[in-house]
Amino acid sequence: GAKSHTNVLIQPNFKFEDMGIGGLDKEFSHIFRRAFASRIFPPHIVEKLGIQHVKGMILYGPPGTGKTLIARQIGKMLNAKEPKIVNGPEILNKFVGASEENIRKLFIDAETEYKARGEESGLHIIIFDELDAICKQRGSKNDGTGVGDSVVNQLLSKMDGVEPLNNILVIGMTNRLDMIDEALLRPGRMEIKMEISLPDEAGRVQILNVHTAKMRKNNLLEEDVDVKELASLTKNFSGAEIAGLIKAATSWSFNRHVKVGTVAGVSEDYDKLKVGREDFLGALEEVRPSFGVAEAELQ
Ligand code: ATP
Repeated sequence: GAKSHTNVLIQPNFKFEDMGIGGLDKEFSHIFRRAFASRIFPPHIVEKLGIQHVKGMILYGPPGTGKTLIARQIGKMLNAKEPKIVNGPEILNKFVGASEENIRKLFIDAETEYKARGEESGLHIIIFDELDAICKQRGSKNDGTGVGDSVVNQLLSKMDGVEPLNNILVIGMTNRLDMIDEALLRPGRMEIKMEISLPDEAGRVQILNVHTAKMRKNNLLEEDVDVKELASLTKNFSGAEIAGLIKAATSWSFNRHVKVGTVAGVSEDYDKLKVGREDFLGALEEVRPSFGVAEAELQ
């Protein structure tokens, strides 16, 4: 049946609405189409088209914009469990050859796990956060970080060794695409490069909705909270900063409602604790975006 032609299995209980990602629909569907087309088409079509599986992708952009969220959700979508995220600097080891060995081991573990799951299992995904820590442009090793060319070379050789039909996909994340060794970005390696930038106003509305959904459901959000207004007031905020703003608004509400000295869990004050517009306006005084005011004019 159709199933035997497919070597990417999307978890049946995975719902796109549940991903908890705001404002990245276009990016997500682009990544999905580019990275998984060859794995979803029947093999005879793939052969006729002469396309090869994508082995790797890189998500880049400012901090807190949802790169990890996307990588994690891709992993969950395909494997139904939390993917392991390897932090670039974690790989590094001052002992000669140890960093290279760590990289080698990641691929061996991925292979082993993939095989253990059987033929029809999904992809195994290796996610590297702070990829720039291990994949700096070669030749720049005397910068005191101790990262040698051989670490980059090891990753390159592991990626080249991943047979096109093998079920390993590498996702790398970085704030600095310009720092990444170019050889890693060539076709057959991390060939999909997707910028995840600061959300625009519509994206901020979505992110605000994602992060206030629970409060709203539990009737803890005042009627006067207007996400459209908040989106217009949060120019240049990253997703992470919007999440931070909501937390700060909650504590403003707490300060308004709960008198110092009352005992947690006993006070009736907690029943009145709803987060309102004024709490968000208060929070906006203390939570500011860290990214360029200059960029504001560009949006
Ligand atoms: P870094 O470069 O610092 O690793 P990142 O781009 O990987 O950042 P995430 O770790 O994905 O950022 O985001 C941090 C948190 O911010 C998320 O767990 C989430 O709560 C919130 N967040 C960021 N972007 C979004 C988004 N687009 N939609 C919903 N929440 C978001």
